[in-house]
Amino acid sequence: MQKYDMIVIGMGPAGMVVSGMASQMGMKILGVDAKKVGGECLNNGCIPSKSLLKMANLKHAADHLEGKGLELAGEVKVLNPLGVVNQQLRMLTGDNLLKKFHLVDLIIKEGYGRFVDDHTVEVAGVKYTADLIFIATGTEPFIPPIPGLDQVPVITNLNVFEERPVPERLLIIGGGAIGSEMAQAFNRLGSEVVLAQMDAHLLPNGDEEAARVLETAFDREGIKVLNSTGITKVAKGKKGIEMHTDQGVFYGDEILVATGRKPVLEPLNLEAAGIEYTKKGITVDEFNRTSKKHIYAVGDCNGQWLLSHAAMHQGMVSLMQAMSGAEDQKYNRDNYPVPWSVFTDPEVAQVGLTEAQAKARGIDCFVVKEEYKTYARAITDGATQGFVKVITDLKGTVYGATIVGELASELIQEWTMIMSNRLTMMNVLMMQHSFPTLGLLNKNLSETWMMRVAQQGDLRKML
Ligand SMILES: Cc1cc2nc3c(=O)[nH]c(=O)nc-3n(C[C@H](O)[C@H](O)[C@H](O)COP(=O)(O)OP(=O)(O)OC[C@H]3O[C@@H](n4cnc5c(N)ncnc54)[C@H](O)[C@@H]3O)c2cc1C
Repeated sequence: MQKYDMIVIGMGPAGMVVSGMASQMGMKILGVDAKKVGGECLNNGCIPSKSLLKMANLKHAADHLEGKGLELAGEVKVLNPLGVVNQQLRMLTGDNLLKKFHLVDLIIKEGYGRFVDDHTVEVAGVKYTADLIFIATGTEPFIPPIPGLDQVPVITNLNVFEERPVPERLLIIGGGAIGSEMAQAFNRLGSEVVLAQMDAHLLPNGDEEAARVLETAFDREGIKVLNSTGITKVAKGKKGIEMHTDQGVFYGDEILVATGRKPVLEPLNLEAAGIEYTKKGITVDEFNRTSKKHIYAVGDCNGQWLLSHAAMHQGMVSLMQAMSGAEDQKYNRDNYPVPWSVFTDPEVAQVGLTEAQAKARGIDCFVVKEEYKTYARAITDGATQGFVKVITDLKGTVYGATIVGELASELIQEWTMIMSNRLTMMNVLMMQHSFPTLGLLNKNLSETWMMRVAQQGDLRKML
């Protein structure tokens, strides 16, 4: 039986970070993936979705030149955007990617990694053993039990980026990040989009006010969003795919299901290793250790966060924890707030608590808000929709930040830095921000906070 220092099962963002770093540190690593190196993120998720959005946004910009002193002499034709997505993916994957893991023994596309016992993993009938094992097996699309959904060709993130003409009519079930991003991408490329969901607003885990800004933008672009809507049946009829809802029947050429994710645990045979799990994912402590201390579960498979950067961060801190052997708080996953961003136009980003969550927890706090439309650069950029909203208090503690607007995904980094380092509004206020970046909206907001504090008390106390 071949012996390794570490076996990494799953080579998505989490597995790539763990195996890449550990091999560079001189450890003998086996990396296993049943499909492709890169996981969902590179092959069917973050990267192709942003690539498609880029092309959709270019078309949208070209179609909306009025008021900018420019005119397009002709029409922008949609040729083959999904072909370009695939071309870019080929460039980013294959041998170019594998070369980065030349220090790792890779077993790719030969089968699932399966526990034989808590130190032994079998792949395609061959057994491998290690002192340390990292599980990084991610998730797969969850398909809800809607009658008839199994009778029609369903699109998920696994096939939505396949090369084909852009569908004329696209039905989407689910208004989370994937549903929202794909609604806008396909709509801007020419599809007529109807998005239906049970939840009361888009991006249901986020701030409602921010979602309403996004919904207004979707409405202006002609994307039909049906919130709080039950889908009773899906069928194939003469007019294409039928989506029967309690708000009527809608028709499409394709139906994209984006209703959440579920972990891929069955092939792992976790029972053989004595590893505990629930429906949500593999059970872990704050260091991402499973019920067996030498086996870690990092990334989406532990169900904590379904985000690439969180998966990579967990991989890194857990590897450091495993190497040091110390239960030091600096390796505690929960000490690092996780931002998230949705790359629609306007973008939506969040870190920490939303306004509603802070209220529900009874935190003694208030909201400071800065609208994009108050800032000259946003006005000249035509980026006036949206706001930065921070949940704070008189001491300047930052409990959370919500941003909806242009480059929200970049602006949120500053608030993540503040929260991760337990800094305050004062640090944002005193930091020089380059003018006229959109990031200066953060600084403007901190000035509003300072004036509010000054009105209520003694400015000298604050400093
Ligand atoms: C359309 C879409 C867009 C997204 N956009 C973003 C975004 O903009 N930003 C962001 O942060 N996140 C985004 N995500 C989420 C992101 O893709 C995931 O959070 C990330 O891929 C999780 O990484 P991971 O390493 O935990 O697992 P995965 O990327 O899921 O990788 C797991 C790997 O394990 C392999 N595997 C599974 N079981 C076994 C086994 N038993 N043996 C061997 N191999 C196995 C799989 O083949 C897979 O390659 C998006 C997701 C989707 C679907």
